[in-house]
Amino acid sequence: MRLLLVEDNVPLADELTQSLQRQGYAIDWLADGRDAVYQGSSEPYDLIILDLGLPGLPGLEVLAQWRAGGLSTPVLILTARGSWAERIEGLKAGADDYLSKPFHPEELQLRIQSLLRRARGLANQPTLQAAGLHLDEGRQCVSRDGQDVQLTAAEFRLLRYFMLHPQQILSKSHLAEHLYNGETERDSNVLEVHVNHLRRKLGRSVIETHRGQGYRFGGVVE
Ligand code: CA
Repeated sequence: MRLLLVEDNVPLADELTQSLQRQGYAIDWLADGRDAVYQGSSEPYDLIILDLGLPGLPGLEVLAQWRAGGLSTPVLILTARGSWAERIEGLKAGADDYLSKPFHPEELQLRIQSLLRRARGLANQPTLQAAGLHLDEGRQCVSRDGQDVQLTAAEFRLLRYFMLHPQQILSKSHLAEHLYNGETERDSNVLEVHVNHLRRKLGRSVIETHRGQGYRFGGVVE
């Protein structure tokens, strides 16, 4: 999953970027509100974390412009401590959730997971499940019939994307756009290698190849 972080406090942005990357998210970071308006609507983000006090253009205005332009990506706003007015204005402008600064990193992590599941119509799942697999996003490990299967960081990122999009044909370029940030070179051969590793661990039929179109996750787990 690929996230946009819009935050002008550099130490906080650095800390959040590192912690979100450890959680397997691809992160693009911007500090200026005007840049955010453009990039947020032109790149295919799965979720956006938006600070409200920004140079260039205030976060509320950024959010209002995204929503006016039809952007439906989930947006979590970061508000000043105790500012109920900011929270209310943010929710009115189309935010899906908010966190008041300072916050515990684990709270952000859990809110992101829940927003991403909700956006995929999986709000009823306390943890991500598909095709007989349970994904533990905290431990970055998958279980099948109660047995843990260990994953590398890259396999975890790919499997999470598949499990949030079961039964959909996903092209390699689509997957690359959602698994890597704007600065990473995208190599579809690497994706193919990770798909094969997942098949070896979880069974060949769990990911089907549709020639010339892409991959479809959610077949019968062997
Ligand atoms: Ca700020």
